[in-house]
Amino acid sequence: MAGVWIIAEQRDGDFRKITFEAASAAKKVADELGGEVTALVLGAGLADKCAALGKYGVAKVLYVDNPALAEYAAEAYANVCAELIKKGGPDVVLMGASMQGKDLGGRLAAKLGTGIAVDCTALAVEGGKLKATRPMYAGKVYADLFIKGSPQMASLRPNVFDVKEVGGQAAVETVSADPGSVRTAVVDKVVAGAGKVDLTEADVIVSGGRGMKEAVNFHIIEELASKLGAAVGASRSAVDAGWRPHTDQVGQTGKVVTPNLYIACGISGAIQHLAGMGSSKVIVAINKDPDAPIHTKADFCVVGDLFEVVPELTKELEK
Ligand SMILES: Cc1cc2nc3c(=O)[nH]c(=O)nc-3n(C[C@H](O)[C@H](O)[C@H](O)COP(=O)(O)OP(=O)(O)OC[C@H]3O[C@@H](n4cnc5c(N)ncnc54)[C@H](O)[C@@H]3O)c2cc1C
Repeated sequence: MAGVWIIAEQRDGDFRKITFEAASAAKKVADELGGEVTALVLGAGLADKCAALGKYGVAKVLYVDNPALAEYAAEAYANVCAELIKKGGPDVVLMGASMQGKDLGGRLAAKLGTGIAVDCTALAVEGGKLKATRPMYAGKVYADLFIKGSPQMASLRPNVFDVKEVGGQAAVETVSADPGSVRTAVVDKVVAGAGKVDLTEADVIVSGGRGMKEAVNFHIIEELASKLGAAVGASRSAVDAGWRPHTDQVGQTGKVVTPNLYIACGISGAIQHLAGMGSSKVIVAINKDPDAPIHTKADFCVVGDLFEVVPELTKELEK
């Protein structure tokens, strides 16, 4: 059962958007390699949901139904995926460069004795091999990688690969695999910002930096974000000052985001911040300093006082 496999990602029984992105990217690679896409789904009580992955180009789902896999657990997931991948022998294995994928990818590659290209922003097939493109040195250069070993593994940066609906239902096969002896257990789940749009999955992000001056001023960012259905982000300075939680931090030591629209308010555009948002599709910078580095990266530059510009923008959107 060669071809291209993806490791689906689910939370609370629903597939994450990165699963559809990985499936669409896998379909393209599989078409070029001349194979089919298989999705590995690990969870509990998801049997009815698996066939729908066919919409995104998945021909077959291998579903492992086990209460021990309902929540992501590094050891159990790595054991199960490794067993099935060894059995199935896919040419390529793709997953998200999400929190889960970052944790699982290296562990799984080590178990399989192969290589993995992480946080990829483009995939191609060259000479019958997967070519993965990924940013390096905080996004200053992009490297093209070929992966030694088999399967060739890559994790995909969320929100970069287009979701393509190709229709159809996937064939679902329920399989069993041994999670092994797992030394960790999820005892509680505390969801940060419950109900809020996850930064890494958001289509629109409005971020604030040191230019916000103090925590209380973030209400103008929240108001603009709510008008746009956007998530709120922050620079490290704003987080270090205690104005926003670390979960909101965008950048090299925060989250890497690729929304369709990123609005940076009072953020200078340090290289470590750009590393986290530089691949956003459209960037708007609101900064009173015309020489701020963020303007060199932005598609639209507003040179002005954010305390005037942001509320004005919100007012216009209300109209
Ligand atoms: C190892 C390492 C990792 C790091 N990781 C990260 C990271 O993950 N994310 C991150 O963001 N940073 C990170 N940093 C920090 C980074 O180098 C910068 O210090 C930080 O991004 C600066 O935040 P800022 O742009 O909000 O603040 P500043 O650089 O102080 O910029 C504030 C900006 O606001 C503008 N401004 C002020 N008042 C107004 C106003 N009224 N209206 C409009 N504009 C105004 C100013 O002109 C200025 O450009 C890291 C640094 C290191 C060394």
